[in-house]
Amino acid sequence: MRHVDILISGGGMVGLPLGLALAQGGFKTLVVDAAPPATVLEPAFDGRVSALAYASVRMLRALGVWDGLAPHAQPIREILVTDGQTGKPASPFSLHFDAQEVGADSLGHIAENRHIRAALYGVLDACANLELKAPAAVASVTTQAGGALVRLADGEEISAALVIAADGRESALRSQMGMQIVGWSYPQTGIVATVEHEKPHNGVAYEHFLPSGPFAILPMTGNRSSLVWTEAKAKAPGLLALDEQGFNAELARRFGSHLGATKAAGPRWSYPLSFHLARDFVRPRFALAGDCAHGIHPIAGQGLNLGLKDAAALAEVLLDAARLGRDIGALDTLKRYERWRRFDSFALAASTDALNRLFSNDIAPLRHIRDLGLGIVDAIGPARRFFMRHAGGDVGKLPRLMKGEAA
Ligand SMILES: Cc1cc2nc3c(=O)[nH]c(=O)nc-3n(C[C@H](O)[C@H](O)[C@H](O)COP(=O)(O)OP(=O)(O)OC[C@H]3O[C@@H](n4cnc5c(N)ncnc54)[C@H](O)[C@@H]3O)c2cc1C
Repeated sequence: MRHVDILISGGGMVGLPLGLALAQGGFKTLVVDAAPPATVLEPAFDGRVSALAYASVRMLRALGVWDGLAPHAQPIREILVTDGQTGKPASPFSLHFDAQEVGADSLGHIAENRHIRAALYGVLDACANLELKAPAAVASVTTQAGGALVRLADGEEISAALVIAADGRESALRSQMGMQIVGWSYPQTGIVATVEHEKPHNGVAYEHFLPSGPFAILPMTGNRSSLVWTEAKAKAPGLLALDEQGFNAELARRFGSHLGATKAAGPRWSYPLSFHLARDFVRPRFALAGDCAHGIHPIAGQGLNLGLKDAAALAEVLLDAARLGRDIGALDTLKRYERWRRFDSFALAASTDALNRLFSNDIAPLRHIRDLGLGIVDAIGPARRFFMRHAGGDVGKLPRLMKGEAA
């Protein structure tokens, strides 16, 4: 039976950077992923983009991933937040964030998920301590005092000092370890599509709050933007089934005309939206990271950023423990990670949930309160800058990787 220091179940956009950070720090690391690498890089696999906060960009740069991603990433120069009703002009109160105001070149970057995955795969071969086994699935994990035993679906058995589950929202391992979550579904669906437009977006991202939910227009490279269109669950199938002309007409009612003529290009995707938070993030010899530990509403584009922060914090805790000669799978080591990340995850998950509840309705008194709130924050410089730092992920105790240093 072979032995590794750390086995990660799930080589998604959180599991792979975590594997890289651990392997670059000297741990013999095995990442096991159920999906074939060639499939996850196909445009049809995942139509989403991710808004990468600048702290996440610093982390990808420190891991050596950024050079491969930068040509495909669009800097976000400004963010405009407005409130309104479908087919009507936006409320006169709005919130405007400008990177220049905080002396930055950008507030983050937008990159297609397939390009993020390709950039991660691009550096794996150069990392001697890291192996990706895919397609292969983790079938079960048994933890004992001295280590963990992992059985893969193909029958292989591997021993490890620590197993990390980064296998997404529906994590089978999390359930198998008896780790409970609190959570609920939103009565909303996230419709995702790429839109081509006549005029350049100049790096401006738009978050337009409509009664069914936020309608985000995220600038991509070229004259393209990605839509994250949150719609009432009952209405989404009808919109997704519209012919091209009908879909473009619905799009135009919400998108407005500021970028000239618009049309959806390529397929439309839809994602059920839900919230969950694991009650515990760790057990002896076992830890959760990324969407496996927490799933949040995409309203603020922070789910992946939160998962990358888990990865950076966990790598730092484990490397510090190893430097001090401590057992990396011991509960007291892993509890340091849990204390660091669980409250931060809860705070962000709760605020995105509250934001969605406050904005996704057409209740007049609430509309007045939130419009006033947007206007007030916009008028107060320090408040504006506080929210910009939040959007950039530059708040709280930052792991070394997110400061751009080695883990
Ligand atoms: C519409 C939408 C828009 C979003 N926009 C943004 C955004 O702009 N910015 C942002 O920060 N976040 C965004 N997010 C959130 C972000 O996409 C997720 O937080 C992120 O993808 C989570 O990554 P992960 O690696 O934890 O999980 P996943 O991406 O779910 O990866 C899990 C991996 O585990 C593997 N796996 C599963 N089971 C097993 C097993 N038994 N054995 C081995 N492997 C297994 C899977 O193959 C997969 O590769 C958005 C989400 C949605 C729905």
